[in-house]
Amino acid sequence: MFLVALAVAGAALAFVALALAGFAPADRLATVVLLAFGGAALAAFVVASLIGGSLRRRVDQASRAASRYAAGDFTRSADDWSDDELGAVARVLDGAARELGRRIDDLSRDRARMEAILGSMVEGVLVVDAQGRVQLVNDAARHILRLGRDAVNRPYVETIRHPGIVEQIGLALAGQQPPGVELSLTRETSRTLVGRAAPVATTGRGAVLVLHDVTDLKRADQIRRDFVANVSHELRTPLTAIKGYTEALLDDPDDAEARRRFLEIIHRHAFRMERLVKDLLRLARLDARQESPEYAPVDLGGLVRSLAADFEPAAAAKRQRLTTRVEPAGAPVVTDAAKLHDVLRNLVENAVSYTPDGGAIDLTAAVDDRSVRVTVADTGPGIPPEDLPRVFERFYRVDKARSSAGGTGLGLAIVRHLVDALGGEVTAANRAEGGAEFTVVVPNRL
Ligand code: ADP
Repeated sequence: MFLVALAVAGAALAFVALALAGFAPADRLATVVLLAFGGAALAAFVVASLIGGSLRRRVDQASRAASRYAAGDFTRSADDWSDDELGAVARVLDGAARELGRRIDDLSRDRARMEAILGSMVEGVLVVDAQGRVQLVNDAARHILRLGRDAVNRPYVETIRHPGIVEQIGLALAGQQPPGVELSLTRETSRTLVGRAAPVATTGRGAVLVLHDVTDLKRADQIRRDFVANVSHELRTPLTAIKGYTEALLDDPDDAEARRRFLEIIHRHAFRMERLVKDLLRLARLDARQESPEYAPVDLGGLVRSLAADFEPAAAAKRQRLTTRVEPAGAPVVTDAAKLHDVLRNLVENAVSYTPDGGAIDLTAAVDDRSVRVTVADTGPGIPPEDLPRVFERFYRVDKARSSAGGTGLGLAIVRHLVDALGGEVTAANRAEGGAEFTVVVPNRL
């Protein structure tokens, strides 16, 4: 730049000097030429300093802007880039930097959103690149696979210890869609997980592994299997008896005494099957919430007394004392009378059937403005403490041999569903003095 200025200024002054030289005497020519070149050098120095100073300022400006960009600040610059070519280039670069900043902001927001989603997922997610390096792992996957904080950027074969999962990822990296692999955690054996890896987009771009917790699904599946097995078993018992006795009847239809006995047995088993099917249908209805409660004022005293009257013959046959009490008598109660009646009928029926001859059954109700509390207590054998939490399960029986002859094993499961439908709670306990005590608390919907 300095040389350009020098050349321009020199040329201008030389031109002036030469022009003057035409009018000057010959002895002064050398002086004029010398002065011309001296002036040219001075003018060149001044012009070059001016241009150089402005250029340095602008280079400084540009270098400050570049430092800001490097520090991640892509906001608009306050600098005045002036209107020449250099300014135009600087403005274009400034605009491009701001656009870049906007895109980086968008990407950061997307990444934060993705991390929030992955972080809140119960499923474990792990992504590896084409070279098999872990690129991304969420907290769930970290916990399930017990990965350290340094897992990212390391080869998955070094960080994942489960051979089935390593194989899955290997197959996915080779472009295959392997079937899921089941794994259980060594520290939480009750949990079952399924890991499934798939190639990302197209072959060669990496793989993504998703880990699902299928514990609840497995449990539900097991419950369903047990239920089907139990129903089959409960139906097979009376069916076998019916089949056997009808065959005996067909073999010897003339023995009047045996015929009567066999028909009674067949009738009893048919009755039991009918009860079982009725209970199953009721449970299915309650499960599907098809029995919505119908609330109306209830004469609780009358309901309790009529129940006791229904069971009086059965209790009398076993010389059992069946007492009832409602406190305060005549207190207003609003609930679904039919459902409450079915709950108490099941509980009193169990109490009568599991309490030995000569025992006592007490049916007590306490009412207040907010709830109705009914207790059915007996002097029977009670329920072993370890079985108390399970007696409300379908087909759960403490002791098959002790089960009531006509019982389906579904009575308490129906009780729990009915009490649920009424918005209440039922609990089983043992009395200190011996015997079982079932307590039902339902809201009084006055
Ligand atoms: P079940 O048809 O066998 O009576 P439930 O569902 O009504 O079926 O009861 C489940 C199990 O709970 C019974 O098999 C019995 O072992 C136990 N049980 C229920 N009520 C009593 C009670 N009052 N005393 C002792 N055991 C009881």
